[in-house]
Amino acid sequence: MPRIKDTDIALVRERTRIDEVVREVVALKPAGGGSLKGLCPFHDERSPSFHVTPAKGYYHCFGCQEGGDAIDFVRKVDHLSFAEAVEKLAAKSGTTLRYEEGGSAKPDRLKGVRTRLAEAHKAAAAFYADQLLTPGAQIGRTFLTERDFDSDAAEHFGVGFAPVGWDGLTNHLRANGFTDQELTLGGLAVAGKRGPYDRFRGRLVWPIRDLSGDVVGFGARRLRDDDEGPKYLNTPETPLYKKSQVLYGVDLARKEISRRQQAVIVEGYTDVMAAHLSGIETAVATCGTAFGVDHIKVLRRLLMDQDEFRGQVIFTFDGDEAGKKAARKAFTEDQRFVTQTFVAIDPNGMDPCDLRLADGPEAVRELIAKRIPMFEFAIRATLAEYDLETAEGRVAGLKAVAPMLASIRDQALRPEYTRLLAGWLGLEPSEVSEAVKRAKPVVSSGSRSGAQRRGDPRSQEPAGAGEAAVAESAGRAVWERPDSATTATAVERESLKCAIQIPQHVDAWYASVEPLAFTWDVHVAVHEAITAAGSPGSIGDGRAWIQAVLEQCPDDTVRTYVREFAVDPLHTKQDDDEGLRNYAAAVIARLLEMDATRRTVELKGRLQRTNPVENEVEYNKLFADLLALEQYRRQLRELALGGE
Ligand code: ZN
Repeated sequence: MPRIKDTDIALVRERTRIDEVVREVVALKPAGGGSLKGLCPFHDERSPSFHVTPAKGYYHCFGCQEGGDAIDFVRKVDHLSFAEAVEKLAAKSGTTLRYEEGGSAKPDRLKGVRTRLAEAHKAAAAFYADQLLTPGAQIGRTFLTERDFDSDAAEHFGVGFAPVGWDGLTNHLRANGFTDQELTLGGLAVAGKRGPYDRFRGRLVWPIRDLSGDVVGFGARRLRDDDEGPKYLNTPETPLYKKSQVLYGVDLARKEISRRQQAVIVEGYTDVMAAHLSGIETAVATCGTAFGVDHIKVLRRLLMDQDEFRGQVIFTFDGDEAGKKAARKAFTEDQRFVTQTFVAIDPNGMDPCDLRLADGPEAVRELIAKRIPMFEFAIRATLAEYDLETAEGRVAGLKAVAPMLASIRDQALRPEYTRLLAGWLGLEPSEVSEAVKRAKPVVSSGSRSGAQRRGDPRSQEPAGAGEAAVAESAGRAVWERPDSATTATAVERESLKCAIQIPQHVDAWYASVEPLAFTWDVHVAVHEAITAAGSPGSIGDGRAWIQAVLEQCPDDTVRTYVREFAVDPLHTKQDDDEGLRNYAAAVIARLLEMDATRRTVELKGRLQRTNPVENEVEYNKLFADLLALEQYRRQLRELALGGE
């Protein structure tokens, strides 16, 4: 690897302000003595022990002992090599770098992979934006105009258009010195038999940026009737793009989120645009994935205020169903976050984009202003499923929501909700209070069945509640040892072993595996380390890949599992490429099938609880979902059998 000249590294250090670099990811407050502090991005914590001393150019965390200068910080937080971190900071401070032994070689080829991919994305975003102005992009401009987005709005959000042909972007980037390998590795092009072709074609595209404003991927919307792809296509997992962490609009919203101590989570790209244009400049959206734990971490660091987390997170949902699902999950996740979480749902089921179009920007602001606490929303949504006019309905309703109240950790908040619930049910507060005391809290640790994982509080059993609470207050995770006797454990283990040992053969399949497909938390953790390390096969196999996965593990226990999965022999006699590929496909199909089975059971339960006469629309939708899922399950079953 060619080295950057030491004098230039020194120049970058000199020109970089550590507090500015850190503030892109972490909100900082004065800590006295010229120091600043915030929530550590390198370990989970509730109160800030992460200190930055701008005068010295250093940061240090008293919680996890992580420390260093601006280059170390960028390296750690963005998972970059030393050279890549220097390149990133150099670009920010406008420093031109020179390389040792650079002489005849092109500087471009000497840069790190991440830097090159970021440059390719920047060039791609500019290309798409230019394309939006061409005659061929009329369909894209019409889409925007119909939603009342003018050319200023398109420019502000960087909206672009991917031309209809197969190689518009590919040829443009090749002409600008990017290699085919860089295009496919970055997800901009797809590797075809006769070379790479454009991933996005004939679509409107939104550049997705990270906190520092680098374009890391794209979201692309279908416009044409002859486009048979999904409505939204996103960049796949790449060394730059981690779907569990990216938030569309976070680069634009970052400052306002910190300033107003508020983040608004909307569902799509146009909703982010509509919200910002309506004065809600704290709006962000996840990109093709549900809002998850990693997103929480990103936002919490931006919302840190003094020694406490006081910010509000407001979710908007298109309709009650999506809201209910998310709200129930809330009880099993980070509660410090949940107590400041709100839900805003338009009574007519309109999203911010529709609302702005129909009733103007005030309506969007009003929607956000009328938020209600997540706890309240979740409890009322559950109660709505019971007939509270009858005594039996009230008793059943109380039984259903008592575990939710019992799991509210905030000691001051629980009595408040007990009182409210008594009012909603028309029962004596003492009666409700008794039921809550008897109820077992909803807990999210150790093993859960599919239904429990998906946050249906009625089916939750506590699992190691005391232990988990102790571990949580000590700031570490407790990993329950997977029960080796079950088929689920065996299939999960084998899938992870395939991803670690033969990544080049699981490549295509592994992309469809969601964390929820695993029933053991430690398996989820290994899976997340694998996806965080890049898509399997992207780094090749062998030690470099395993090392990349190890680097993404949250603790030593998870690392131990990864090492174990790396050496435990696969349960197959196949040893040629085709045989291994079929084996991996069969194992992963079995994993997906088991997950689909759990979801089927869950859907059937919901179908039974839904009245086909009163809720005809929902009933029909559930029924259609069930049919589709059954079909998917059968296909997987055939695949899984085919490999045996
Ligand atoms: Zn720390």
